[in-house]
Amino acid sequence: MTTAFEPLDSGTIPRFAGLPTFMRLPVAEPAQVDIAILGVPFDLGTTNRAGTRHGPRELRNQSSLMRRVHHVTGLSPYDRARVADCGDVIIDPFDLMRSLDIIAAHYDGVREAGALPLTAGGDHLISLPILRGLAKANLNTRGPVGLIQFDAHSDTYDSFFNGSRYTHGTPFRRAIEEGLVDPRRFVQIGLRGAISDAGNYDYAREMGVRIIFIEEFMARGVEDVMAEARAIVGDAPTYVTFDIDVLDPSQAPGTGTPEIGGLDTREAQAMVRLLDGLDLIGADLVEVAPPFDPSGLTALTGATILFELLCVLAGVVEKKKGAR
Ligand code: MN
Ligand code: MN
Repeated sequence: MTTAFEPLDSGTIPRFAGLPTFMRLPVAEPAQVDIAILGVPFDLGTTNRAGTRHGPRELRNQSSLMRRVHHVTGLSPYDRARVADCGDVIIDPFDLMRSLDIIAAHYDGVREAGALPLTAGGDHLISLPILRGLAKANLNTRGPVGLIQFDAHSDTYDSFFNGSRYTHGTPFRRAIEEGLVDPRRFVQIGLRGAISDAGNYDYAREMGVRIIFIEEFMARGVEDVMAEARAIVGDAPTYVTFDIDVLDPSQAPGTGTPEIGGLDTREAQAMVRLLDGLDLIGADLVEVAPPFDPSGLTALTGATILFELLCVLAGVVEKKKGAR
């Protein structure tokens, strides 16, 4: 099947030529597609090294290496769903709170248009306004959403620097407080590293969030951990957030807060594939910081994870179309 929403043919137009859009796709409005790939160039939430404002552009660049057909499933997401690059959310780099409102309003519009959003960040704070835009309309009918978070960090801390509550270390605490995410349908995978206070995980644990540290992951493996993650979120609407720092920094060094001892890319790809069949309302890939990524490896890895997520979202679209 050939549609208007196909990547440029690399047999005709070389990968290094043409305008760099996500996956070499056409640019379109969310209302025209089933899956909207969006950039959120934002790093106002970073507590340490900034630079993720440059993430979407470099992810677009490296995504020119992505091909059409998934080698395991033999399926092309472009045969299953209409997909396009729907541009960037234009934030105000001098106003964090205003930027959060801009992002939430934008994703409210994407949801209204009927597209599933796949987002390239941006630091991890962007997941909060994305969830505000996507989940709020859900609250009356279906309740808060489930969440699967791949990350070295919990991002459920209360505040930084004597009271700043909106940072890339706090989005999921706010999301629970705001009723956007059901903490009992929330699983965090890959956490590790020393913490600044022994109580840093207390809030998440008290709320019922399932934390799977890297040590437990190593003992149990990909399939067992993902079977539990799937059971935790169940059949109800769920969002997926992938922080690139869940990967070992030897494979993804270009990020603001690296932690050694992480997942390898093969494990991450296998885990994303096991999201297939869940009722996903969107996904994001965050924390790629090109200033710390001179070879482009981290952005290439991020673009590849975006392709894996896209393939899973295409399955969601296909299932919904079949059900109509
Ligand atoms: Mn994070
Ligand atoms: Mn992290």
